[in-house]
Amino acid sequence: MTAETTPANAVLMIDLGAVVANWRKLAGLVAPATCAAVVKADAYGLGAVPVATALQAAGCRSYFVACLNEALALRPHVADAEIYVLAGAARGFEDDFARHRLCPVLNSLPDIAAWAAFARRAVAAPPVAIHIDTGMSRLGLSPAEEARLGEEPDRLAGVAVACVMSHLACADQPEHPLNARQQAAFASIRQRWPGATMSLAASSGIFLGSAWHGDLCRPGVALYGGAPVPGRANPMAQVVDLRARILQVREIDEGWSVGYGATHRAGRRATIVTAGVGYADGFLRSLSNRGHGYISDIRVPLVGRVSMDLITFDASAVPGDLLYPGAEVELIGPHVSIDAVAADAGTIGYEILTSLGARYQRIYRNGPEDAVDRADVDEGRAAAE
Ligand SMILES: *Cc1c(COP(=O)(O)O)cnc(C)c1O
Repeated sequence: MTAETTPANAVLMIDLGAVVANWRKLAGLVAPATCAAVVKADAYGLGAVPVATALQAAGCRSYFVACLNEALALRPHVADAEIYVLAGAARGFEDDFARHRLCPVLNSLPDIAAWAAFARRAVAAPPVAIHIDTGMSRLGLSPAEEARLGEEPDRLAGVAVACVMSHLACADQPEHPLNARQQAAFASIRQRWPGATMSLAASSGIFLGSAWHGDLCRPGVALYGGAPVPGRANPMAQVVDLRARILQVREIDEGWSVGYGATHRAGRRATIVTAGVGYADGFLRSLSNRGHGYISDIRVPLVGRVSMDLITFDASAVPGDLLYPGAEVELIGPHVSIDAVAADAGTIGYEILTSLGARYQRIYRNGPEDAVDRADVDEGRAAAE
């Protein structure tokens, strides 16, 4: 389906074949370590259920989500897999973890105490991960608290520790000295946890090298096509394609302004196309006068402010026969990567992905050659009638 044939103003295509290819590539890079998939925030906005279902078929057996409700939504779709909940188990919700075999990530000594109390009275408490903070100062036990666990093993009585994890603060800057410090701190913890799966690296950490891989890697953004090492060639396959429909084409004379605040003024006669996407779709307002799109293979600068539902491009360089209501503007795709949009917006690809709007017509495909699913087209048509 194209933007020309949908009831929505824009079509978001998500290539699950590319997600699977990215997971396989990362799994190959980290072997013999295992590759999990981080599917928090609805798989970075792309749909945790379709993403995890595709990865499960490819052999992925471990998933990380941010919170319990994400885990509960995912569980029926990956019945046999490990699901780790990064926020841990809120007091009073331990039974939900047990019932659905969800593994909490315990982030503090009080978290461990509460879980141990539950595990001692529960019939079958699931295993847990313990998170050690080696440099993020965000979640996790300090190294001193981790050492205390070693001295006071009763604190873990009844608790099955499946995984010990930490998180890198600067893995996207390979030269940053904190990477080696965190790796060393994590390695020194290792011998105290002989039976546990050790997990340190997310997407960028995988590319620091095998010393960071431990036993289990936790990529998120690289699965979804984000560049794991900013500024270097991106080895991941592009997953997302976003096309907006042109609603109107107009000629403006030299000196006319475009959009709220009249922040763009035409220096000469110009062709302006208006497309039906705006900040309500997560197309960030910081892209005002800074973003760009493509019509066919011609770059069109975004001019004027991003409105709630509309954006405007200077399409003066585009032949007139390509400009008509219903024609498409590529906002993310072969010419415009997620990271390019992020650079224009002054943010990171993660924020572009997790902001992708609810109004887009979403289409899942399985590889670039996959003809778009007939059912999607019919559904779109039915919705339009
Ligand atoms: C989000 C997150 C990840 C995944 O990070 P990416 O940079 O997207 O690969 C891994 N581990 C933890 C603890 C996280 O919070």
